[in-house]
Amino acid sequence: MDGSTKQDIRKLTLSQLEEFFVSKGDKKFRAKQVYEWLWHKSLKNFDEMTNISKETREMLKEHFAINHILVDLMQHSSDGTIKNAVKLYDNKIVESVLIPTSKRITACVSSQVGCSLDCNFCATARLKRMRNLNPDEIYDQVVAIKDEAEAYFDRPLTNIVFMGMGEPLLNYNNVIEAIDKITSPEGLGMAPRRITLSTVGIPKMIKKMADDGVRFNLAISLHSAINETRSRLMPINNVNPIEDLADSLKYWYEKTKRKVTYEYVIWEGINDDEKHARALAKFCKIIPSKVNIIQYNPIDEGEFRQASKEAVEMYVRILESQGIIAKVRKSRGQDIDAACGQLANKNEVGELEG
Ligand code: SAH
Repeated sequence: MDGSTKQDIRKLTLSQLEEFFVSKGDKKFRAKQVYEWLWHKSLKNFDEMTNISKETREMLKEHFAINHILVDLMQHSSDGTIKNAVKLYDNKIVESVLIPTSKRITACVSSQVGCSLDCNFCATARLKRMRNLNPDEIYDQVVAIKDEAEAYFDRPLTNIVFMGMGEPLLNYNNVIEAIDKITSPEGLGMAPRRITLSTVGIPKMIKKMADDGVRFNLAISLHSAINETRSRLMPINNVNPIEDLADSLKYWYEKTKRKVTYEYVIWEGINDDEKHARALAKFCKIIPSKVNIIQYNPIDEGEFRQASKEAVEMYVRILESQGIIAKVRKSRGQDIDAACGQLANKNEVGELEG
């Protein structure tokens, strides 16, 4: 990263870059060439832009910097999962995770530094929210994982999930701009159906996404379909109760015709009884949906414990008997604190240096 105060060239849109070249007496198409180097090829250095004359490159260097995230620390789990601690331009750190399976390589990316939501079972909540990530900071996390997929697994990146740190719907514009770049041919050209945005479920924003006609997948961190329990787990439910969430999901389905996934952790003594399983099954009937039962990843010595195998089986039986698809997901990367809900910058290399 160039530490100077020069403008970051990647903050410019393609048309702003075109205006810049025209104002310098150059051709408009030069902008497209440079833009592709910056996004599609993710170059960090003007000198590598081989189809741009030396003179033009020098001129660009005088005006602009190319700011990039830096993978500060990379950790490998025994199950193949990789966790990146990523340093941002202001020395803040976020984490992203590469999750390999036999069929897929998934990038799990962060959308905010910290999180404002206070879900009681999540390590990121302990960090509080520091700031939103910029579109390029989200995009760069994906590129870093794409490169690691190729380098370590010799396979392409196939999927992206917004399940890292932060609440993507509280940084909506930047997340959408990042996804636009990830899916555009000048960017990574990935299909929107390979991208999943995971949210605590903010009804107003779910309706907005539906109005905006987004084409990626939606996952809701539900964890309980009973208000009292859900509010205890996720304080956001006090202001956005299940009924409002249900309304927004109906609206989502009417507009997009896309089914949703509910993410669900079952905890001992909290939601591991039949009453909660039946409430979930009822909720799943509102619109076409499926359930991912996630294993709880312990974050401290706190009140939460993963429910028994019998409780998980009871849930699956009840859901399946009502025709609902339920998958039990294994936890990945627990040994390096890379699993769901464990991202908390335990190795704050950059922060200490900064
Ligand atoms: N804010 C978004 C995305 C980040 S969390 C959201 O809430 O969906 C990604 C997923 O991990 C969510 O489903 C969340 O509920 C889950 N999660 C958080 N802490 C967890 C933990 N300790 N164990 C298992 N899953 C957890």
